[in-house]
Amino acid sequence: MSEPPEQPGSERQSDGAALTPDDWEAFRNGAHQLLDRCINQMRDSEDHPWQAPPSDIAKRYAIGPDRDLLSSLTDDVLPFHGGNTHPKFWGWVQGSGLASDLLAGMVTATLNANLGGRHHGANEMERAVVDWTRQQMGFGPQASGVLVTGSSQATVIALHAARVHCQPDTRSAGSAQGLTVYAGEGVHNATLKAVELLGLGRSALRLVPQHEGAIDTGVLRQTIAQDTALGLRPMAIVATAGSVDTGSFDDLSALADTARDTGVWLHVDGAFGAWTRLAADPWHALTNGIERADSIALDFHKWMYVGYDCAMALLADKGAHRAAFATRPAYLKGAEGGLAAGEPWFCDYGTDLSRGNRALRVWCALQMFGRDAFCTAITRNCAQAKLMADLVEARGMELMAPVVSNVCVFNAAPHLPADEQSALNSKIATALQIEQQTVFSTTTLAGVTCLRAAITNHRTDDHHIREAINAVQAIAQAVPSP
Ligand SMILES: *Cc1c(COP(=O)(O)O)cnc(C)c1O
Repeated sequence: MSEPPEQPGSERQSDGAALTPDDWEAFRNGAHQLLDRCINQMRDSEDHPWQAPPSDIAKRYAIGPDRDLLSSLTDDVLPFHGGNTHPKFWGWVQGSGLASDLLAGMVTATLNANLGGRHHGANEMERAVVDWTRQQMGFGPQASGVLVTGSSQATVIALHAARVHCQPDTRSAGSAQGLTVYAGEGVHNATLKAVELLGLGRSALRLVPQHEGAIDTGVLRQTIAQDTALGLRPMAIVATAGSVDTGSFDDLSALADTARDTGVWLHVDGAFGAWTRLAADPWHALTNGIERADSIALDFHKWMYVGYDCAMALLADKGAHRAAFATRPAYLKGAEGGLAAGEPWFCDYGTDLSRGNRALRVWCALQMFGRDAFCTAITRNCAQAKLMADLVEARGMELMAPVVSNVCVFNAAPHLPADEQSALNSKIATALQIEQQTVFSTTTLAGVTCLRAAITNHRTDDHHIREAINAVQAIAQAVPSP
């Protein structure tokens, strides 16, 4: 067969010219300006609160030619964020993002690394991040971990490993009938989703009553014993370190004892709360016992303040982790040397083959600020939740749950009849978001829709808390008691 003839002009095309900048110097100048704009927005985050996207946003974002990209990014994209970079943002549980993310983002884009496996620097960096994290959590050198999109995915990975551990032929035979999972009544939705996704069915999740925000271990032991007697197969206990509603913690040491005595896998949902490991006492003690878990789901993008998305499934036993995921067909075969070498390959520890470089964001954050800065920020957020609670009580508003970590839930309207309280709290949340650049979310406790602050924000100062409570009180008092 004869070689295909070269086409005229093919040298130019083979440069990939159509998908590279026409003029690199113009690109450089524009990119420098954009970087300055991004740095200013981060530095002046207080001047950039959430604002409702304009009504023509869909039109502005419609894909089409002849738009100047840099001015679109500056005018149409940067202003319309979710608000969580602002110092008065305490809604849901959202991280605040770090200046180091800017540096990591540039280098990540330049490398375009795929961390599924093979022998290159980014994988070593993820190993360093896993190693650092397992030490913070008190896991031994036999632990393993993998960076994932969020604690939701980490929960799926951990519970699948628990299932394979409980029923080793799961991978060939599929999920057995009768596997059961145990969690406190306030468990995060992510565990429900994982149980559904794994095909166990929601009815496999036993919701155990809680006492003062923690699983009642007496009832848990009884439930496990009853299920075992019925021929069911207790597969995992899901402990919560930092509940989404109130920031409460299960007693991890007591649950580790239960897990040991019953032979059931202990998974900790530590999405944000696991990071109390870095806090000073009394908050540090909230996660005592976490080192005895079989697995932990934790987020870097919440209370380690690192940019989205970045979380980890951490397993105490590398063998159990690999047993649940490792499968390498011929086209992914490793080698002794060259690019196909390197061990472990992260694709053997989770669901994804192609994987982005999340590790660099964590690494840059730790290298730029140092571990102590995170210890200080996390401790300070806990103290700020306590400050908020003290102000709430001093102003005659009602604290709805004890503040044990970084979450404060309160009722600004105890002076109104019960059936009007929820409406006023909801109204206050919305008004503050729109008019005061202050973001609380709401949750329902004891039948009342309450204001809720989850403080995972390194930009918050104490004066922001005071101003916010003043603003809440002002709106609440404008509605007099009947
Ligand atoms: C946020 C959260 C999750 C889910 O984590 P994602 O990172 O959003 O997937 C699970 N559990 C708790 C307690 C959470 O706060």
